[in-house]
This record gives sequence, C-alpha cells and structure tokens, in this order.
Amino acid sequence: MQPPHLDPSLRLRVLVVDDDEATRVALEKAVRAMGHPCRSAGDGHEALLLHQAEHADVILSDWEMPGVDGLELCRRTRVADGDKAYTYFIFLTGFGDKDHFIAGMESGADDYQTKPVDLDELRARLVSAGRVVAMHRQLREKNTALRRDSQASFGLARTDPLTGIANRLRLDEDLRDAWAHAARYGRRYSVALCDVDWFKIYNDHLGHLAGDAVLKRVAEALASELRSTDRIYRYGGEEFLVLFPEQSVKEAAVVAERMRLAVQRLRVRTIAGDGVVTVSIGVAERRPEDQNVAGWLNRADAALYQAKDEGRNRVKSDSDG
Ligand code: GH3
Ligand code: MG
Ligand code: MG
Ligand code: MG
Repeated sequence: MQPPHLDPSLRLRVLVVDDDEATRVALEKAVRAMGHPCRSAGDGHEALLLHQAEHADVILSDWEMPGVDGLELCRRTRVADGDKAYTYFIFLTGFGDKDHFIAGMESGADDYQTKPVDLDELRARLVSAGRVVAMHRQLREKNTALRRDSQASFGLARTDPLTGIANRLRLDEDLRDAWAHAARYGRRYSVALCDVDWFKIYNDHLGHLAGDAVLKRVAEALASELRSTDRIYRYGGEEFLVLFPEQSVKEAAVVAERMRLAVQRLRVRTIAGDGVVTVSIGVAERRPEDQNVAGWLNRADAALYQAKDEGRNRVKSDSDG
C-alpha cells in the first residue's frame, strides 16, 4: 500500500457503502491509504443521509443490503444530485454475472467491480472517477459563469447608460407585454410622455456635457415620484416615458403633475422658458379601440404637443379635449 500522498486536487470524497462490517472497514482503510478522505455507511438509507449532509464525489456501493439496496441507492443518488452535482457511482459486488452487471449500469452506475475487490484495480478506477468528477465540476463552473454573464449582458442591453433607467429596447418589450395583457384580460394601462422644455437652448448655451448632467437629474426627479409598479424609460434624446399599470388617465395625470413639479423643484437655471429647466407631459390611457401600441402612444404624443403649444411646463391628457 502506498503512503496517502495524493495531490489535493486529485482527492475524492469517497463514501463506502456495505452492510458487511469487515468489508466496510477494510475498504474504508484501503481508500484512505490511497489518499482519499472516506466515510462509510451500513446501508443505502444511511448512505443517502451522509451524502445529503456532505456531497460525496464517489460512492463505492455493495449491491445486496437490507432496506435501500445498492441498485435503489444508485437511482436515488442520481435523482438527489439533479444537475447540482455529479456522483461517480461504482458497484462493488459479489454478483459476477452479466445480468447483474447490465442492470447495475442501467440503473445509472458509472463502473462495476466484482468482489473480492482487487485494490490495484480499484485505485485505477478511482483515477478514472477523478477525471470525470473534475470534468463535471469544470462544466458546472463554466455554466455558472456563462449564466452570470448572460444575465449581466441582458440587463446592460436594456439599460440606458447615461441615466441608468430602462431603455427603448426594454420599453418595446414591456409595451408588447402590457398590450397583450390589456387585450387578453382587459387590464388598464396609461402612459406619460415627458419632454424637457427648450432643451436645445440649454445645450447650445451650456454645452452638451452640462445637458447630459441635467438629463440624469431629470430622470431621477421623475422616477422619485413613481410607485413601485410604475416604470420609467428613456424614450429618446430628452424624452422619457412612464408606463402606469392599472391606472386610468386621470390617476396617471395626477402622478404626472407630481413629476412635473419634481423637475421644476430641481431649480436648474436656464435662459429659456421659466428660467429653470421644466418638462411638458402628455398622458394617454390605452383604449379598446386602439389598433396597436403606436396608436395609443400617438395620443400621448398629441397631448404632449398640446402642452407645448399652451406654453410648456404643464401636463395634458388626451381626454382633456
Ligand atoms: P421643446 O420645448 O419644443 O421640446 O424644445 P427642445 O429644444 O427641447 O426640443 P428640440 O427637439 O428642438 O431639441 C431637443 C434637444 O435635446 C436637441 C438635443 O441637443 C438635446 N438632446 C437630445 N438628446 C440629448 C442627450 O443625450 N444629451 C444632451 N446633452 N442633449 C440631448
Ligand atoms: Mg451486502
Ligand atoms: Mg423632444
Ligand atoms: Mg424638448
């Protein structure tokens, strides 16, 4: 027997399962001597409990045992692991016939060795087990990293980099969902289109970078007045859209008025309009007769134009007439 010197990366957490105590003790000792940490169980039920408490990389299992036998243990281990982990399962059994071998492998075992156990053979089988266990671990780590990356890029692709709020792509997706919901379940939705007043003059006067900083603050001010179910998006250059689920045009207009005041309260000095940066807002509720999202948004846009026409820094609804 070689001394238990094994590169730590090659160490496998082994679980020996056998109802015969002498065999169990001898196997456990032999596996430890090969350099692997090892626990043992006297039947399948105890093995499952130990495996649950701490995952085993390799299970070396007898076939015939009282209660949960080796075959059942193998099946249950596969179910318990799911796609969280992989357990390399080796039968160590006195059954040397072909039928048992086939049934064992078909129940999900990775390998099969007959008793009396040749320890050199077992050591070689554990080398192969180590390769498979390492490969599964790498695959899982890669999958986790991929999932994390794809979630991050999904979020980034739907976020406006300047203001940090949702962007046009997200808006289009959410509007599609809202439309389907409204059409199918008769749910109410309103939108508010907000446009910064005289913003070209602000940019021309103070520069584009100062303009960018204002857009950030305007987005924050608008968002600060929303409830958790309302959602704000950067619609275009200096335009923002708010989607209000379950709200009539009247209810949405009340929130829009608070949004308008929040921007005015920022007191960002400008040479145009009222002397401070303001927004005009057009509000419209989805109507059953709307042909599509564009028809609905056009009514919000028309209300916005009316707000501009009437002097800016105000809220107009499409139902105002
Ligand atoms: P109105 O009150 O009629 O809306 O006047 P306005 O000047 O705001 O409207 P107009 O559509 O003529 O100009 C919009 C300006 O918004 C033009 C552009 O310089 C500015 N703008 C659009 N996107 C950005 C941006 O990302 N950053 C900055 N700094 N300015 C932007
Ligand atoms: Mg037995
Ligand atoms: Mg505009
Ligand atoms: Mg504007």
